[in-house]
Amino acid sequence: MTPKTTPLPRNPTNRRAFLKELLAGAVTASLLPLGLPAAAHASSTALNVVPLDDHLRLITGAGGNVLVAETAEGLLLVDGGNAASSSELLKLLGKVRPVRVLINTHWHPDQTGSNEALAKGGTKIIAHANTKLWLSTEIDVQWQKKVYPPRPAIALPTEILYTQAKLDFGGTKLEYGHLPQAHTDGDLYVFLPERNVLFTGDVMHAHAYPIVDWSTGGWIGGMTNAARKLLDVADASTRIVPGLGPVQTKADLQAQFDMLDVVRGRLIALLKQGMSAADMIAAKPTAEFDAKWGDPTLLIRNAYPGLWAHVREHGGIL
Ligand SMILES: [Zn+2]
Repeated sequence: MTPKTTPLPRNPTNRRAFLKELLAGAVTASLLPLGLPAAAHASSTALNVVPLDDHLRLITGAGGNVLVAETAEGLLLVDGGNAASSSELLKLLGKVRPVRVLINTHWHPDQTGSNEALAKGGTKIIAHANTKLWLSTEIDVQWQKKVYPPRPAIALPTEILYTQAKLDFGGTKLEYGHLPQAHTDGDLYVFLPERNVLFTGDVMHAHAYPIVDWSTGGWIGGMTNAARKLLDVADASTRIVPGLGPVQTKADLQAQFDMLDVVRGRLIALLKQGMSAADMIAAKPTAEFDAKWGDPTLLIRNAYPGLWAHVREHGGIL
């Protein structure tokens, strides 16, 4: 049987529109494995794929959120999920195109678990200088009672930055920058201005109090500053991808900033009253926020050492 072909429209304007549609269809087709609904993958993976546009996907279920941009030069990832999901993630992505660039928003295993596997395939890894330092050493995360061994040399970022940078990769523009001493001391945000998509990493969580990893330099004042910086980057129509959870809006980010700003101020006041972390938890400084954000125990317990580390910034306690 002769395959049917659709003739090109004779009118040049219609022809351009037709070609554009045809091209869009072709590009979408190359992304089809990513665009399948989660149910189609249910038998083989827990990963879920959320289309953000024809060339941009959010993959959930890999520990932390993974952002995937398809470019003319291959795939670009922001965060690579955890090690347990790595082979499934790579299998899913391998159906589309090779991964050329990975940006680690910070050192945590839910973001850097695919570093080894991707680097072996030639992926360039970009991160803040402090993230590279943490990945190259043993890390004692006291509040988790867990020690993380140094990662093998191949898992380390191959390109580092200290403040901010821009990248034009395969026609996809990115702006990324450091959010000092927030969730950790090496957090990056990544903004795609043409898509108006902002990836925050773990400085923002959806529907739960964010985590302050004081063992590697995070503190609640830095979290507040990070939210303020991200509010400058975003506008009302920005799609904000948090480190974990569904896509958020600027209003959600504003709500997190407002909450953190109030809680930070109250914790500083309680510190000046000589309270311990247990006293602060008992004082319920987050009471009106708990219905929305959940159990504040970890937030307060982890904020406490950071309040001492930054005590000069709030005038000392004497
Ligand atoms: Zn994290």
